[in-house]
Amino acid sequence: MTSTNSSLSSDTMVAYRFVPGKTEPQRTVVPIPTPAEDEVLIKVLAAGVCHSDVHLLEASATQPLLPGTYIMGHEGAGIVVSHGRDVAADPNNARRLAIGTYVAVCLTNACGARECDACGRGFANVCFNEPMIGLGMDGCWAEYVKVRAISVVPVPGNNPKDSRMAPGIVAAATDAVMTPYHALKRAAGLEPGQTVVIIGCGGLGINAVQVAKNVLRAGTVVASDLRATSLSIARNVGADYAVRPDELKALLEEKSLRVDVVLDLVGQQSTVDVATDIVRIGGTIVLVGLGSPTVGFSPLLSTMKQTTIKGSFGGDYDDLKECLDAIAEGRVRPQVEERPMEECGQVIHDLAEGKIRSRVALVPRSERRGNLSLSARL
Ligand SMILES: [Zn+2]
Ligand SMILES: [Zn+2]
Repeated sequence: MTSTNSSLSSDTMVAYRFVPGKTEPQRTVVPIPTPAEDEVLIKVLAAGVCHSDVHLLEASATQPLLPGTYIMGHEGAGIVVSHGRDVAADPNNARRLAIGTYVAVCLTNACGARECDACGRGFANVCFNEPMIGLGMDGCWAEYVKVRAISVVPVPGNNPKDSRMAPGIVAAATDAVMTPYHALKRAAGLEPGQTVVIIGCGGLGINAVQVAKNVLRAGTVVASDLRATSLSIARNVGADYAVRPDELKALLEEKSLRVDVVLDLVGQQSTVDVATDIVRIGGTIVLVGLGSPTVGFSPLLSTMKQTTIKGSFGGDYDDLKECLDAIAEGRVRPQVEERPMEECGQVIHDLAEGKIRSRVALVPRSERRGNLSLSARL
């Protein structure tokens, strides 16, 4: 195992860990990790906070969802600072992920093996042979993270100072853009001209609207949420209509719209009921939100309309690459608020209480705006 910047390995870093039984991220000082043969070490510029982090911490008091203690954070953006031996020896990886390359981390961390039942059949997004980054293995709520090269995607333009590709935006791309992208493109197979209803217009939903409208060229995009502010944001980012769930049916009738795809980013009984009700004959419902542990479907309604009901989780390397391209082209503009990484506990509370309208990216102390010390560390 080698590191092209061996002086880093003797350093320590601040990290925020999940510890079973604790419902707050735990600040800790740990050695800066040394990348294994197939890994790169990334200096974290920004790391997103997600509702799944809230769920992880809430469940910690009673029954942790994942075993063990690990550094949290599954939405990372940063700079490659060193290579493991095999990465350095592989000309493709050494070039693709050269030291100094601005990268995004693909949280699902697929094994990539041809014989893998997930990876070998086009479902790398749900390969769990390797623990997910920040969800079972050490993640990005730290100054550095080591990640297998196979899970690292270079950012187009390679410039973290380009405001369109700012680290917080790239961090958001890894989940809040990639997840709805995979759901709409790969799971739903949304086609140009079709009508899509997006239920839930929080961090993922406002990106889903833009992906549907500007990338996949849906004909009509209807956004739905209980919160008036979310509806207004959805309109601002391109939704043709934005209404409360109880107003959907009347809107669809008034505008004579038939719904080809419903994307449910909430996952509660009430949203599933709406989805089942409004989807057209032969249409598709894609479940992404995990709002309730179980929901019921009407077999009668689903069979009589021949509804396709699918689940979708995260995305794979290609999804993330395509999302970053769409952002670079200005077709998706994620809304991200930056907060200091040491505020991660407060951010978790704010997110749990619905106080955050878009997405938060945590910025490690050394990477605050106006205090960029990248060149010094490189
Ligand atoms: Zn997430
Ligand atoms: Zn696999």
